Amino acid sequence: MKIADIQFYSFNPGRRNLEVVRVESDNGYYGWGEIGLTSRDRAVGGAISHFRDFLIGQDPRRIGRIWQETYRSQYFEGGRVLTSAMAAIDIALHDLVAKSLGVPVYQLLGGKQREFVPCFVTTNARNLDDLLEEVKGLVADGWECIRTLVWGLWETEGQVFSPRESVAITAEWHTAVREAVGPGPVIGPDYHHRLSVAEAASYCQRMPPGTIDFLEEPIRDETPAAYAVLRSMTDIPFAIGEEFSSKWQFAPYIEQGLTNFARLDICNVGGFTEAMKVAGWCETHYIDLMPHNPLGPVCTAASVQLGAAVPNWAWLEDRTVDLGRLYSDEIFPVQPKLDGTWYPVLDTPGLGVEIDLDVIKEIPSRQAETPHTVRPDGSVTNF
Ligand SMILES: [Mg+2]
Repeated sequence: MKIADIQFYSFNPGRRNLEVVRVESDNGYYGWGEIGLTSRDRAVGGAISHFRDFLIGQDPRRIGRIWQETYRSQYFEGGRVLTSAMAAIDIALHDLVAKSLGVPVYQLLGGKQREFVPCFVTTNARNLDDLLEEVKGLVADGWECIRTLVWGLWETEGQVFSPRESVAITAEWHTAVREAVGPGPVIGPDYHHRLSVAEAASYCQRMPPGTIDFLEEPIRDETPAAYAVLRSMTDIPFAIGEEFSSKWQFAPYIEQGLTNFARLDICNVGGFTEAMKVAGWCETHYIDLMPHNPLGPVCTAASVQLGAAVPNWAWLEDRTVDLGRLYSDEIFPVQPKLDGTWYPVLDTPGLGVEIDLDVIKEIPSRQAETPHTVRPDGSVTNF
């Protein structure tokens, strides 16, 4: 069996662009993968084009070797653009090889550890009354883990984000949410890397102990030592890692106890090959995976296969909002379907997702620049 072609498709079903890769073999099999660095899709598509030049003709079953060759063959290794491209190819190769064997991808990863893959959801309310109502509804619907939007994290262009205002209001929100739902539900916010160490510490210190169960990405990740300082100022578990592009980026966060839930993104970290190594590394430190899953059905399907196969799993990110055509059955006639608050682990060969090629070829790509967020003084902060 040889790789016959690698195609890259970018299309916009309505809510955001999706960028998928299709790898074909010379004996009629194919597999789908998805890139994670969607806001710079032209760069990732360029990297895939480079990889295509030397992967055509190779044996698609040598997935681990292909990972090494794509990571190391440009002399300067890795980086988010390259590992996002590698991830899509690695996921597609797993889909292709599993289909050729007539087995689900999790059978290539050691078999299934569980029957269902648990998920968490995120709230959308922008004021406290709506938030309390939304959280109570999610709890009533059976959600065990609920991530709450922080105040001021609105996805609009020209947004002004005031950290101190957000910290003060969000701490009040969370204190009220915990009082309203009691001790049971797992509650935590995602701060999108927008705070300084001092701001993040202040946010944590404004709530009674036990108010939140995790804090996702309060600060940026370039300096693990900064997280170590923040760790000394709060005992709240951190959920970090969706932006990490290799096991080497995860390493200090795992070994120094700086991430307590691994927010791994299979479409950023380098596909199944790298995700399984990160999962194993996390297992040695009793850290559960809590994967990032904001893209389309291919990322969801890959994440569900990963969740089936690893022992150390918390929740997969999922959404209850209407996503329009993003998860359309017309575009994706086969895709994972949520059953309550988790995905069943099925026996479908491959990833368990199919894309109608004729349909996506008719859907134009429409890349929108992510909002460039500023602080009240006009300086740049993260989206
Ligand atoms: Mg996040």
